Amino acid sequence: MKPAKFNYLRPTTLEEAIQLLEEYGEDAKIISGGQSLIPVLNMRLSTPKYLIDVSRIKDLNYIKKDGPFLAIGALTRHYEVEESELVSKYCPLLSEGMKNVGHPQIRSRGTIGGSIAHADPSAELPCIISALRGEVVIIGPDGERTVPTEEFFLTYLLTSLEPTELVKEIRFPIINENDGSAFVEITRRHGDFALVEVAAVVGLDEDGHFSSVRLAVGGVGPTPVVLEEIEDFLNGKEPKEVVITEAVSSMENYLDPESDLHSSREYRIHLASVLTKKALLTAINRVPKGMVR
Ligand SMILES: Cc1cc2nc3c(=O)[nH]c(=O)nc-3n(C[C@H](O)[C@H](O)[C@H](O)COP(=O)(O)OP(=O)(O)OC[C@H]3O[C@@H](n4cnc5c(N)ncnc54)[C@H](O)[C@@H]3O)c2cc1C
Repeated sequence: MKPAKFNYLRPTTLEEAIQLLEEYGEDAKIISGGQSLIPVLNMRLSTPKYLIDVSRIKDLNYIKKDGPFLAIGALTRHYEVEESELVSKYCPLLSEGMKNVGHPQIRSRGTIGGSIAHADPSAELPCIISALRGEVVIIGPDGERTVPTEEFFLTYLLTSLEPTELVKEIRFPIINENDGSAFVEITRRHGDFALVEVAAVVGLDEDGHFSSVRLAVGGVGPTPVVLEEIEDFLNGKEPKEVVITEAVSSMENYLDPESDLHSSREYRIHLASVLTKKALLTAINRVPKGMVR
């Protein structure tokens, strides 16, 4: 199928884009890389009157260190994040996760702002930024606002973005160099959206006990789920397999996935448990040697 007719607008500055959103917001859709929107338009699941192509706005493509954050402009493409030395140094979890986003062709066009705004609960970026407790910088006619991830993702494909706003920047907390991290997922075929995915960051104290565990799981509900109960259970304990096995044994208490075409509710819970254990053990192994006692 082909999309319904639309008017195509191509601003070259952020100010111009915001003006267009103010004018046409309710009837418009932003397009960045088009990797999610074009299929949606082709299937006529969305029929906007106006398409605002923001991909020519130059000053939204950057990766920079900004205090305790790695700040990434919304129009930065997936492959640029994947290949960035700054990202692999300050947020290796993100470098690892990006390799799982679709295929190289998708990553050469898709943008991280588009991925976050699309809010697919099986996508890698929402899971990673949720585990890290990152922030999304939003801009609109009333100026800028910074939203923590837990307030940004509302449900399947829905965020707290207003129709007149766009994602300007995504802020990933920098991972301490003494911490270990891991991203793991199960897909039916390489490059597919995850059935279930887990992002983990682990810090150990001077006694070698867990001091800061951050964990999120995707593909198990309408938004990524931060596993706070498991984080609290682990903090202060020894990073042993038996402890982790106990921590993940009651996963069904924290998740409420639905059965669908791809897997049953029970299978998703099982995968979440297995993958959380795998992510934690991998993250522990990646803690620099001097920190493990
Ligand atoms: C075959 C295939 C496989 C894929 N596999 C995966 C995968 O495994 N994992 C994964 O995460 N993704 C996957 N994707 C999706 C891909 O990563 C998309 O690139 C990404 O989801 C959206 O980025 P985009 O720039 O292409 O956004 P677009 O398609 O341009 O837009 C997506 C949505 O976000 C909105 N939007 C875009 N930019 C902004 C902005 N700056 N501010 C506000 N709203 C905005 C649009 O209005 C639209 O609603 C796949 C896509 C395809 C076609």
